[in-house]
Amino acid sequence: MSKRDYYEVLGVSKSASQSEIKKAYRKMAIQYHPDKNPDDKAAEEKFKEAAEAYDVLSNTEKKQRYDQFGHAGMGNRGGGGMNMDDIFSQFGDIFGGGGSPFDSFFGGGSRGGRRTQKGSNLRIKLKLNLEDVANGVDKKIKVKKLVQAEGVTYNTCGNCGGSGQVTRVSNTILGQMQTSVACPSCSGLGKSIDKRPKGSDANGMVQKEEVVSINIPSGVEDGMQLKVSGKGNAAPFEGYAGDLIILIEVEEHPTLKRENNNLHYDCYISLTDAVLGNDIVIPTISGKAKIKIDAGTQSGKILRLKSKGLPSLNGYGKGDLLVHINVWTPQNLSKDELKIFKGLKDSKSFVPNPTSSDKSFFERVKDMFN
Ligand SMILES: [Zn+2]
Repeated sequence: MSKRDYYEVLGVSKSASQSEIKKAYRKMAIQYHPDKNPDDKAAEEKFKEAAEAYDVLSNTEKKQRYDQFGHAGMGNRGGGGMNMDDIFSQFGDIFGGGGSPFDSFFGGGSRGGRRTQKGSNLRIKLKLNLEDVANGVDKKIKVKKLVQAEGVTYNTCGNCGGSGQVTRVSNTILGQMQTSVACPSCSGLGKSIDKRPKGSDANGMVQKEEVVSINIPSGVEDGMQLKVSGKGNAAPFEGYAGDLIILIEVEEHPTLKRENNNLHYDCYISLTDAVLGNDIVIPTISGKAKIKIDAGTQSGKILRLKSKGLPSLNGYGKGDLLVHINVWTPQNLSKDELKIFKGLKDSKSFVPNPTSSDKSFFERVKDMFN
C-alpha cells in the first residue's frame, strides 16, 4: 500500500495556503468527477485520491498530524480512504452550500438526489503501556453501538418515489422556475420505515455490543487519535456507518521515562562500582541489558544505548535509551567502614578535580539534544 504524498496528489507545495489547497482540489475534482468520466476507473481513483488529500490538508488538526507523521499518523490503516458519500458531502464546503452548485458544473443533477445518512462517530479511550508502544499491538475492544435492528424493513417513499427530491414550480418575473427540494415527508432519504422490530428506536436501530479488532502501530503517543473507518454507529435507512475514534492513553512506565522516541533511565550505581568499574544489568523496553561501568565513572554521566528507545511512528529508525548514572553515596556506615573512609579523608585522589572532559550537567543536557 504505497500512498502518494497528499501535497503531491494536489500538486501544491507544503507551504500552500488553505485557499491554494482548495483551489487545487476544486480543479482536480472537476477534472476527474465521475459524471464527467463515466466508467473510467483511473479517473475515479484520481478523484478519490484528491478528495482524501483535500480532506486531510483542509483540516488544521489532520494536516498537522499528517505533516508530522505522514500517512502513518492518519490512523487509516487498512481503510480504503474515503467513500463517495464522504466525498460528495465535502462538496458543500468546496463549492459553497448544498452540493447542487457542483452539479450545475456538469449540467445534470445526477448527484443531487437521495440524501444518505451517516452514522455518528464513536469515541473510546484506549490505555496502552510502553511495551505496547514499543512493539505495536493488536487489541480487541468491546464497543456499544447503534446497528440496524434485525428484521427492519423500509418502504420507498410514496411522496417522492424514492428519489428524495420533489420538484417545485414557482412563478417569478423571469417566468416559471423549477427547483428541486428535499422531499418533506422522508427528509430526502427516499425511504420510510416499514416494519420496526420490538425494542428498536423510531429509526429501527438498536444498541449492540460488538468486538472490534484494531491494530495499533508502534510509536504512538499519549493523546493521539486513531480513526477506524466505518466502525462507529450505523446509520438508519441503510446509510453508512460513522467512524470509531480511538484516543490513545499511554501509561507511565515504572522505570523508563519517555521523551519523544528516546527513553531515559535513572541508574544508581554503588560507590565501589563507580571507583572500581563493573558490569551491571539495567532494564530496557525489550528486556534486560548489561552495561559496562568504567572504573572512575562520575555521577551524572549519561550512557547512550543506540536504538534501544522507541520506534518512530512513520517506521523509520528508533530512538535511544539514555542511562543517567547516579553514584549512590553510602549512608549509615558501620564503625569499620567509617574507619576506612576516615583513613581516606586526606587522600589526594579524593579531592575533586574536574577536567574539561567532565562536563557540567548543563553542558551534558545541551549535548544530548544536539
Ligand atoms: Zn420522499
